[in-house]
Amino acid sequence: MATGGACLVWWGEPKRIRDQSCCKNVNEPKKPAAAALLRKLYYAVKPYVPWSLRMALRRSYSRRLRLQQRDVWPILPGSEKTPPGWPGWPEGKQFAFVMVHDVEGIRGVENCRRLMQLECDAGFRSGFFFIPEGYEYRLTPELGQELTRTGFEVGIHDLHHDGKLYSSHQSFLQSAKKINQYIKDWHAVGFRSGFMHHNLDWIHELDILHDGSTFDTDPFEPQPDGAGTIFPYWVARPGVTAAPKAGELPPGYVEMPYTMAQDSTVFTVFQERDINTWKTKLDWIARHGGMALVNAHPDYMAFEGQTGTPRTYPSDLYATLLKYVSSQYGGQYWTATTQEVARYFRDSYLRKRLAPPAV
Ligand SMILES: [Zn+2]
Repeated sequence: MATGGACLVWWGEPKRIRDQSCCKNVNEPKKPAAAALLRKLYYAVKPYVPWSLRMALRRSYSRRLRLQQRDVWPILPGSEKTPPGWPGWPEGKQFAFVMVHDVEGIRGVENCRRLMQLECDAGFRSGFFFIPEGYEYRLTPELGQELTRTGFEVGIHDLHHDGKLYSSHQSFLQSAKKINQYIKDWHAVGFRSGFMHHNLDWIHELDILHDGSTFDTDPFEPQPDGAGTIFPYWVARPGVTAAPKAGELPPGYVEMPYTMAQDSTVFTVFQERDINTWKTKLDWIARHGGMALVNAHPDYMAFEGQTGTPRTYPSDLYATLLKYVSSQYGGQYWTATTQEVARYFRDSYLRKRLAPPAV
């Protein structure tokens, strides 16, 4: 991670402590500065390269990488280790199942209600993350309110979604001000960067409860350093050494890494037409009591009556995952939105470990 891998900072201690059980770097680039420069160049030329050419290159590169990385993706051995003193999930459930959706463009917005319906019918609620100042759409108050009224979460996905959010610290600070205004206006508590870019130290500028810009293991992402855990983890603000008040946590946020492969990776890059990759990972997470967090994009789903394109996959595949979870693991999982899981993690786990006891 850009933080150097720190994930827990105990109050009162001047130096960061990386909790071995919940955070280790995987796939950290050997030359991070060169990797950052390459990313910058890529996003500068990206708008001028046709999608079909970009995808063809990505597919060929990713197929070779998949073979090389088969020992660490989709399952990273060691990432199942539970955080120290972990109390388990609410009501003694075996594992958590969490769904999020990044809404990338106008097609995604048009599919939001279909996806909501699909999940409601299957008894699930998820989080929808919208781009506040993207090129294709603006979130309407009607859709935002409909989502929250029916138990879904509304979160912030980047600012412009152009791959440039982290291009300099100064520009990030300016963007953070705008993002914080949207957080307030939308009553949101969660954030995720575009393209899973992340600088966990900078994200402290956002007024959030949780961030979701990382993953347990995903060598196919442009910033492929993984968190190495299938549990949420705490990112404490660096440089804070003063002990918090009794019963309070030091400043920081909960990081909610996605732990199931993204739909775009499985269905668009690898062009799979079954959910075996998802099933294998879900079974493994369930066995180890972790958090199965899946990020699926409404933009890429073709619902009934919609013509499929090279960029889409049948929404039935996603529906099959939900059916699989409920039929295979009925009564054994806790399903909640990202904000509910982040609150549980903060209040039922972190507070007991990190907050000084009230006298
Ligand atoms: Zn996105």
